[in-house]
Amino acid sequence: MELGQSSHPRRKTRQIMVGDVPVGGDAPITVQSMTITKTADAEGTLQQVYDLAMAGCDIVRCTCNEIEAAEGLARIVPRSPVPIVADVHHNHRMALAALEAGVHCLRLNPGNIRKPEHIKLVAQEARDRGVPIRIGVNGGSLHPDLYKRHGGKVTPEAMVESALMELAYFDEVGFEDVKISVKASSVPLMIEAYRQLSDAVDHPLHLGVTEAGPMPGGLIKATAGIATLLAEGIGDTIRYSLTADPIEEARAGRALLEAMGLRERKNIDLIACPSCGRAEIDVIEVARQAQEAFGEREIPLQVAVMGCVVNGPGEARDADLGIAAGNKKGHLFVRGQNVAVVPEDQMVDALVEWATFINDHGLDAAFERARSTREQARREAERDRAALVGAHGDDVNESEQRVELIRKLG
Ligand code: SF4
Repeated sequence: MELGQSSHPRRKTRQIMVGDVPVGGDAPITVQSMTITKTADAEGTLQQVYDLAMAGCDIVRCTCNEIEAAEGLARIVPRSPVPIVADVHHNHRMALAALEAGVHCLRLNPGNIRKPEHIKLVAQEARDRGVPIRIGVNGGSLHPDLYKRHGGKVTPEAMVESALMELAYFDEVGFEDVKISVKASSVPLMIEAYRQLSDAVDHPLHLGVTEAGPMPGGLIKATAGIATLLAEGIGDTIRYSLTADPIEEARAGRALLEAMGLRERKNIDLIACPSCGRAEIDVIEVARQAQEAFGEREIPLQVAVMGCVVNGPGEARDADLGIAAGNKKGHLFVRGQNVAVVPEDQMVDALVEWATFINDHGLDAAFERARSTREQARREAERDRAALVGAHGDDVNESEQRVELIRKLG
């Protein structure tokens, strides 16, 4: 499948601009996160904005909960490497102040900014300045009237109705530069709400599972909700809401889009076998060391750590580069072809060195580099493979011997 494609075609949405970042239409799906500093602390917040941008965030949101926060935004926005969204609840005057600060987008919660005249005033101001607004419906803070009307429950219908009511106010003042979210902490609820919303409007959709919680549960919930919708072609921008360092949110968002083939790969894709009775090394530890060694290096390759040379090179033959353990050695392979052999304690260093070489010079250069070593490497791998199969047989977990013993007991 081509980059940017999912199993279902992406639903057509109109495109808006958040600063210089397009959202919706055929624009790449973007990653968002939110700072957790006090926005009034402009320097501290800017540092976090830069860290988030480095971790793969395309758009960053900051709270605008008090006038000092709006003042902070006035200092942050001109120096930010990515567009800034002001998050506004309860007080529409904070939205007006954020617009004055020059933010690239507003997020309004229709559940707690309820007066139509306030909503329309903010929309008019945003319209006149060409600033988009996200209607950020949240299952936990639904408008009380809607809550009552839908039987005292948060339902997908109630959440969609909340978004449509806000859109109707915007319509009255001719404002349509809008993206929408209908987040809930329940994964099935948010999935259904987004499905219904996607059928009802063509505005770009911002996906998220709100208050997903700490890792690993939060990561799993957010991924379940966001990935399900993306696979259905729904969603134009995403945010992981984790109880964790926001850098983890940005990394998770980026990793999900890369894993689904919806964004170009920027960082290493480290794969590793789950280990089994054949493993010649501590695969978990070596994979951890490799992950640490690659760190934040921008090497867009798939790299494999495999526990044994018996099955490793075959199982990871599609990886750009891999290493498999056997007989106290590391057998390096490029696209399934053996290229070199290194001592076991140099496996990680060799992986990083070869990955860097391939990233700088390409795969052909790597095969050329291995011209004099590859035949020897192939023979050694074959010998170690045969020795290991000879030592452990095909039944490395000794299942058949156990079955024989059990049969004797019967
Ligand atoms: S590569 Fe080897 S050690 Fe890893 S799971 Fe496969 S057979 Fe087991």
